[in-house]
Amino acid sequence: MTGALRASPRHLRSRWERFTVSMGLVLLVACSGGEARYDLVVANGRVIDPESGYAAVANVGIRDGVISEISERDLEAERIIDATGHVVAPGFVDLHEHGQAEESYALMVRDGVTTALELEVGVPDIDAFYDAREGGQLVNYGASVGHIGARMAVLGDPSQGILPAGVGGSGSVSPDQLDGIETMLRTGLDRGALAVGFGSAYTPGAEMSEFERMFSVAGEYGAPAHIHMRGGLAGLDSTLATARAAGVPLHIVHVNSSAGGAIDDFLLNIQAAVAAGQDVTTEAYPYGAGMTEIQSALFDDWESWPDERFGDHQLVSTGERLTRSTFGEARRTGGTVIIHGRTEEMTRAAVASPLTMIASDGFIENGRGHPRTSGSFAKVLGRYVRDEGVLTLEQALAKMTIQPARRLQSRAPAFARKGRLQVGMDADITVFDPATVIDRSTYMDATVPSLGIPYVVVNGEVVVDGGVLTPARPGRGIRAPVR
Ligand SMILES: [Zn+2]
Repeated sequence: MTGALRASPRHLRSRWERFTVSMGLVLLVACSGGEARYDLVVANGRVIDPESGYAAVANVGIRDGVISEISERDLEAERIIDATGHVVAPGFVDLHEHGQAEESYALMVRDGVTTALELEVGVPDIDAFYDAREGGQLVNYGASVGHIGARMAVLGDPSQGILPAGVGGSGSVSPDQLDGIETMLRTGLDRGALAVGFGSAYTPGAEMSEFERMFSVAGEYGAPAHIHMRGGLAGLDSTLATARAAGVPLHIVHVNSSAGGAIDDFLLNIQAAVAAGQDVTTEAYPYGAGMTEIQSALFDDWESWPDERFGDHQLVSTGERLTRSTFGEARRTGGTVIIHGRTEEMTRAAVASPLTMIASDGFIENGRGHPRTSGSFAKVLGRYVRDEGVLTLEQALAKMTIQPARRLQSRAPAFARKGRLQVGMDADITVFDPATVIDRSTYMDATVPSLGIPYVVVNGEVVVDGGVLTPARPGRGIRAPVR
């Protein structure tokens, strides 16, 4: 045996040969070590990419904010996060987030959100929105230009909030005023607004012809119309028809609250429009109560309500349930109100439907708000996926990542690199424990961060580390191309 070994070519090599071979190996190791050393590696987690269907225990290597390698081999990095036993998913993209400030971002990011977008109400001034947040935020952000705000500005609404409290909602418009509203929308779209936001429920003074005209403007720019619609099932049908006539991609926000008890019929009608070739999508948040401003047009008929209805309303500033007299008082002074009343079956139907994306409709200010701000995504993953089996983990993740990214990517190509855990995509990553992930905020305290989401990465930087916020603020504004 030893004689045979001694006769092998390896042992016939000269010392020089052995020297050059070993030097070559040293150089090879040095080079590959340099190339393969990443800024960050998320190791040993179950990597799930809802677009490709990839799902395997693997290591994710990140360099310069980009996912550079996904592999089963060991990767070297400045920092390695051990994700053993956890899911490694694309960061969640929330299409409906009013809380565009650190207080809300800080809760949402611990719920797994890496991109928070104000697309329903939108903003009246796109440049001002992006300028105010430049220099880095916890998460990526973006906005639509809003029809509601444009209408409030042009008609001179007295509201101090983001929704009309008077003429901006209920007033009718002159031809000149319509031109003024259209000009504001066009300016916003020229400056890179991601979409156009509408709230026909908040602007009862606006005729469907006004929506058709403004839908057409959005359609001209390839921007989706995100609408909080009015009028129940009949309103859905006229909204679908108006969008079809205007040639605009349509996104119906929070189908759960707009449909209420008619959720099954709502989803059937949306499905029929999709089957007929219309570009229409929708979203839901997993809670049985809504929230809005008490001075909005939704409550214009409050004086005709029966006494028992007021108790379904909870004042956000104090947590108290209202009566006819306290409701009337708050209606005069202003504030935000949580509206209880939908059943768990309605919520479940909205979350389970393959048509819905998950979007929070969140907003926290001065420590008060709705638990959907801080818990929507963890609640779907914990309660509806793990505890109740209403949908699979892969289905739920698609609703949080690839579906919202696809909704926006033809208008804003930056979204073609979001919502995906693939080589070459932006390194927005959420790491969660499928066995423990759950929401913890309540209607009395909406500021309790979700559990079971220990690591969140935004543009390659760790912003949640062991469940704790870091000082990093890598979140950037995402716009459509500016004209
Ligand atoms: Zn909203």
